Formats: sequence, C-alpha cells, structure tokens
Amino acid sequence: MSRAPYQTKQKAAVLECLHKSGGAHLTIPQISERLKAAGTAVSMPTLYRCMDTLVAEGRARKYVLDGNAASCYQYNSGAEKEELFHFRCEKCGRLLHFQSEELRQLNVRMKQRKSGKIDLEQTVFYGICDTCEP
Ligand SMILES: [Zn+2]
Ligand SMILES: [Zn+2]
Repeated sequence: MSRAPYQTKQKAAVLECLHKSGGAHLTIPQISERLKAAGTAVSMPTLYRCMDTLVAEGRARKYVLDGNAASCYQYNSGAEKEELFHFRCEKCGRLLHFQSEELRQLNVRMKQRKSGKIDLEQTVFYGICDTCEP
C-alpha cells in the first residue's frame, strides 16, 4: 500500500474525532488522546500536518492564543455556532472556555461607535480560576 491512502485514512479519523467533539476546542495532545481511545494512533508530526491541512481546507479552525499555550482546534461545520472565549488562570495556567453573549455584543457596539473590531478568536482573558480561589 502506498503512503497516500494511509494518510487519508488518518486524516478522516482526525476529522471524525473533531466532528464528534461538536464545537469543543481541543489541543493537539487532546486530539491525540481521543484518537488513541478510538483505536487510531496517529503520531504527533502526522497529527500536526493533518491539522494544518484541515485548517487550510477550512474544515477546522485554529485558535492561536498567547504563545504560552498550545493552540486550540475546533471543527468547522461552516454553520454559525456559539463562539467560545478563552480565559487563562494566572495561578495554575489552566485555559478555560466560556460562552458569552455580552462579549459578542461588544463587537456590535464597537462597530456602532466605529471604533474597530476586537479579534475575539485571539483574545485571552486573564484572571484566577475558581479552583485556585474558590
Ligand atoms: Zn480554545
Ligand atoms: Zn487556577
């Protein structure tokens, strides 16, 4: 068997894994774990290449954050979906996801005031999480 069909199969497995996660954001190690659990082991370099391809094809979205964290990937169905925002705990370093109608409205208001547009896909909110400071 040539290499191409094998890689195609892995790519399909990766896409399937993202799809099944719904709109969740996953890092490369998390995707790798899920693939393993599903019975498809994909090496890290292959997985990185796979994700690059899927992002380039518009089938996945990549969120590049503050450089201290692994990028998040999200399945892109092409449909409008709830945007996820990022929050990092400055104590434990955890990256949390949350939804916020208020934040989405923020850009609407920015636009009304002709102030610009915040790139919420790359915006990280910093603070202390509930686990660190209950
Ligand atoms: Zn994310
Ligand atoms: Zn914390």
